[in-house]
Amino acid sequence: MKLLSVIVPCYNEEENVPYFYEELLKQEAALEERQVQLEIIYVDDGSKDRTVEEVKKLHQKDERVHLVSFSRNFGKEAGIYAGLKKAAGDYVVLMDADLQDPPSLLPEMLHYLEDEGYDSVATRRVTRKGEPVIRSFFARTFYRLMKHISRTEIVDGARDYRLMKRPVVDAILSMTEYNRFTKGIFGWVGFQTKWLEYENIERTKGETKWNFWKLFLYSLDGILAFSTAPLAFVSVLGLLFCFLAFVLIIFTIVRTVVFGDPTSGWPSLVCIISLISGVQLLCLGIVGQYLSKMYMEVKNRPIYLVKEEL
Ligand code: UDP
Ligand code: MG
Repeated sequence: MKLLSVIVPCYNEEENVPYFYEELLKQEAALEERQVQLEIIYVDDGSKDRTVEEVKKLHQKDERVHLVSFSRNFGKEAGIYAGLKKAAGDYVVLMDADLQDPPSLLPEMLHYLEDEGYDSVATRRVTRKGEPVIRSFFARTFYRLMKHISRTEIVDGARDYRLMKRPVVDAILSMTEYNRFTKGIFGWVGFQTKWLEYENIERTKGETKWNFWKLFLYSLDGILAFSTAPLAFVSVLGLLFCFLAFVLIIFTIVRTVVFGDPTSGWPSLVCIISLISGVQLLCLGIVGQYLSKMYMEVKNRPIYLVKEEL
């Protein structure tokens, strides 16, 4: 018998915890046919509702249900890391509590792992049905940009719903960075990956934890964690402005020699100064962003803190 660990990060998902459990167990027969046993790890990410109580209830009647509860909200990426650490399975799968990742795909995913020799099976949604148009637009732009500025493959529409063999899990666990952009980490570790596609499924109960601003910051995290292109951009911009200044100097000297030295021209001077100081602050800001990420890494703080474990 092989063991399959299901990791479910939960933040305020009291309604979804038991519902997810029921839906997952519907696949039990199909898994048993493949000689695969289940273990379910709910990672409570500092929920403020009854999520922990719901998991404890499940744990009482089914000892295959485990709980890791954080001392506060550390974010989904930390939840994933904690779950991977706790998982004992030969196979590990990450799933959202809101059933946007259909458990019915599990047997097919296992087929690719066991019969076709893949190391991991990943999923991506091909539609963004039910999502605001502006949000879809920015998401697409982000992925297009990443394709150009990062060498790590980050797939548009990729979900965190992913089934992995033990070596992949160990590879991910070996990346102990504090700023965890999981979509990038998956791409970075590599391995043979089979992609499954499905249409977007809307969440069953409760509300999404993401708003536009949070997603925007998340995309910045992704860029900073998996690309140094902004730093190169800053250098090129600096060179460009040096060149521009050089041309202006020559122009001014020639004009003074040929036409004398009129004292006009201070409005244009003000424009140039404000433009250049703006550009300088922007560049300083970009460098500062990398510095702040470095600062957080160097502090070497734990990625999450556990309050309770079952
Ligand atoms: N989640 C979490 N910590 C957070 C935010 C979300 O563990 O700080 C979990 C959440 O409970 C859910 C999954 O991550 O199981 C995906 O979150 P959500 O459905 O809100 O995101 P979306 O599907 O809208 O991208
Ligand atoms: Mg969701």
